[in-house]
Amino acid sequence: MKPAIWLDGSLCDPDSAMVSVFDHGLTVGDGVFETVKVTEGRAFALTRHLRRLARSAAGLGLPEPDLDEVRRGCEEVLKAHPVAFGRLRITYTGGISPLGSDRGTAGPTVVVALVEASRRPDATAVVTVPWARNERGALTGLKTTSYGENVVALARAREHDATEALFGNTVGALCEGTGSNVFVVLDGQLHTPPLSSGCLAGITRALVLEWVGAKETDLPLDALYRAEEVFVTSTTRDVQAVHRVDSHTLPGAPGPVTAEALRIFLERAAADIDP
Ligand code: PLP
Repeated sequence: MKPAIWLDGSLCDPDSAMVSVFDHGLTVGDGVFETVKVTEGRAFALTRHLRRLARSAAGLGLPEPDLDEVRRGCEEVLKAHPVAFGRLRITYTGGISPLGSDRGTAGPTVVVALVEASRRPDATAVVTVPWARNERGALTGLKTTSYGENVVALARAREHDATEALFGNTVGALCEGTGSNVFVVLDGQLHTPPLSSGCLAGITRALVLEWVGAKETDLPLDALYRAEEVFVTSTTRDVQAVHRVDSHTLPGAPGPVTAEALRIFLERAAADIDP
């Protein structure tokens, strides 16, 4: 199925949907985005995603998005193309801006794209990367379209037959993945890095904290090698066990804590589409 596209207020043909070459999101990455899980034609946790979109836009200094309008865009693409399983990608940029000048002159660009997707495997391999997340950066905690750093790290993961790369921060503490948060089990206790580590306030992370419970703990990067279990969380992965970190294997993944976290997450998510 072709993606279904809603652009600046209306549904449009994906083959002819166009954004200007002068869009500030394209030229300087001046944009924010959300990826929302779609199950049985319904968007999961949409209210939390819209709130985070607004927080990211505010952090970047973009005009406040009209969240009712963005929600309408999501509803329209979902109605036009009900998919059993997929993702909504909401992109909100600074809009058209002549090269060399500041922000858009014609208002922000808003795109909602709906794509079909397949479920991720239960377990995956990850690598650590030598580059640090900046826990004190101007963009820390914002979900911006400036994803170059993540693209490079993910390429490193793929070179090692892994699907995710994990970052430490500038003081060497465990932070997050390119598109996921990370949890580790140490002495039977579930831990995840605090937001002060520089990680994104992942919506799946927040739901695991609320529904399953975990300690927010500053951990050294090498805790990954000492952990009994490791898992990553994201909209596209839910709770995904890690069976290898670099060359260190975690036999039996998903272990009992991870399996229970996934069970609780899926059960609660099925009972409440917009928790
Ligand atoms: N960290 C980063 C850098 C991300 O890009 C994402 C999601 O794309 C996450 C964590 C996980 O967040 P969520 O659970 O809201 O998908």
